[in-house]
Amino acid sequence: MTETSGAAATPIDIELDSQARRMRFAWADGKRSDYDWEYLRWRCPCATCSGEGEFAGELQTRTSFAPDEIEMVDLELVGRYAVKPTWGNGHDTGLFTFRNLRQLAEQDGLLQDA
Ligand SMILES: [Zn+2]
Repeated sequence: MTETSGAAATPIDIELDSQARRMRFAWADGKRSDYDWEYLRWRCPCATCSGEGEFAGELQTRTSFAPDEIEMVDLELVGRYAVKPTWGNGHDTGLFTFRNLRQLAEQDGLLQDA
């Protein structure tokens, strides 16, 4: 397993591309990864979506999203460790940490050379 820390988990550029419906990350180690909005919405890490402890998240019972639910209308930087998307239906409680995003990119083949 790759150690996801240091440059590998540090973004140097973050872009919300509304045209392509993607969130784009450039990492300090020279790699890039682009995340499709719907891909991210399915992975919303908040307790409501993903569940917490014995409570199952609502993503487990969903099969699709309404168009506004997968529209990323805003992207906010949280400290130096995470981003927080706001979705078209107002949902904004999911924090994607850089470490989590880098791990997703590695496990799902989303890493590209710059
Ligand atoms: Zn959520």
